Amino acid sequence: MKIYNTLTRKKEDFVPIQPKHAGIYICGPTVYNFIHIGNARPYVVFDVLRRYLTHQGYTVNYVQNFTDIDDRIIAQANEQDVDFLQISNRYITEFFTDTDGLNIARATHYPRVTEEIPGIIALVQHLITRGYAYEVAGTVYFCAPKADNYGKLSKKNIEDLEAGARVEINADKQNPSDFVLWKAAKEGEPSWPSPWGDGRPGWHIECSVMARKYIGKTVDIHAGGVDLIFPHHENEIAQSEAEMEGPFVNYWMHNGMLLLDNKKMSKSEGNFFLVREVAEKYSYEVARFYLLSGHYRMPLNFSEELIQAAANGVERIRNCKTNLTDALQNPQGTQTLDATPFRADFLAALADDLNTANAITALFDLVKFANINISTASAQSLQALLDEMHFMAEILGLNLSATENKGDTAEIEALIEQRNASKAAKNWAAADEIRDALANMGVIIKDTREGTKWHYAQN
Ligand code: AMP
Ligand code: ZN
Repeated sequence: MKIYNTLTRKKEDFVPIQPKHAGIYICGPTVYNFIHIGNARPYVVFDVLRRYLTHQGYTVNYVQNFTDIDDRIIAQANEQDVDFLQISNRYITEFFTDTDGLNIARATHYPRVTEEIPGIIALVQHLITRGYAYEVAGTVYFCAPKADNYGKLSKKNIEDLEAGARVEINADKQNPSDFVLWKAAKEGEPSWPSPWGDGRPGWHIECSVMARKYIGKTVDIHAGGVDLIFPHHENEIAQSEAEMEGPFVNYWMHNGMLLLDNKKMSKSEGNFFLVREVAEKYSYEVARFYLLSGHYRMPLNFSEELIQAAANGVERIRNCKTNLTDALQNPQGTQTLDATPFRADFLAALADDLNTANAITALFDLVKFANINISTASAQSLQALLDEMHFMAEILGLNLSATENKGDTAEIEALIEQRNASKAAKNWAAADEIRDALANMGVIIKDTREGTKWHYAQN
């Protein structure tokens, strides 16, 4: 596979540290709101990276953090007069509702900042000991000019950075581009004890600590949006490489921004559409397909036309699948077809820096070919076309089930809970009624020892 590496600004062959093993770290959300469709872009495109590598025989260790302590979380907690963890826990649950709806495979690990405080303190301490960081009045700063080649990812030059950062005057900093590793506690804010007094971690340090702990000294692939290149990822490199020999990350992958009226979609600017708003109007599957319709490094416009085009695309694929399935029930033809070239194009597209747009073109080529030949193809060929379609859909993460995967996960889970309560009350009739209602929604349930499991019916 070739990957465009932001560090070298080149497409490079992907060579993992250990053969057939990939450690992938992706920066997670700050959990103070529902995710918008722009936030979903990195989680969807890098989920395809993971699926593709898994198909290529890789074992993928996929790590995504949650920033569960932050100024914006604290502000909301104060507004609502609740503990900050109530805010972050709520939005972590909501995050999973959306990412499960988008069919994003669960990560191997989901570390949270508030559960990694000892590791963070240890790294900050280590950086002080090694002369890379200093403390002023309970706040610890990283000394940016001490880092080897600070600015190498963002291609910024330290002198320019110093000049630019001078605008924001902070008398405590030794250099304008120094950044915070540990913040001294402010009155009424959540804090943890540390060698520098009560405080909380700065933003960047968490990712250095978590990547190291859950992946190792060097990460194969570190992903996130281009908006994180500076300062977040630049600072992650400075912190992690100050502490060790060798690179922190071998391949940096960054997705382009989702734009609304030519401006970055952003929570803080207030110009956004939530994932669940798009899912309500169309479906989670359409939202996912839309996000994969462009190359991940390019900006992607958010427009009704593009989402409608994605909806039409999903419909075309589904119809073709239904027609192939129906034709297989009563095959009319005898023609032997070669269904294999589409897979080769599909995989070649993904191998070329995760070009999902071209991969989708290969899927549409297959659909077109199937539609033309459906009435004359032999049973074996129909099955082969269907298998190819399933293969591509699996890597793109489309489930193609009969039921539209609408934003109804919460409703399904609520019904399952009601059914379990009915069963516990030995009200079997009510329990059966709920089972039937779920079946009508295209949901199959299974009672297992670990509780009730559900999935959408495949047809
Ligand atoms: P945040 O919760 O703002 O830290 O963002 C979580 C992830 O969403 C990061 O990887 C960001 O780079 C990404 N992101 C935020 N806004 C956009 C956008 N408009 N388009 C694409 N990705 C975005
Ligand atoms: Zn990060």
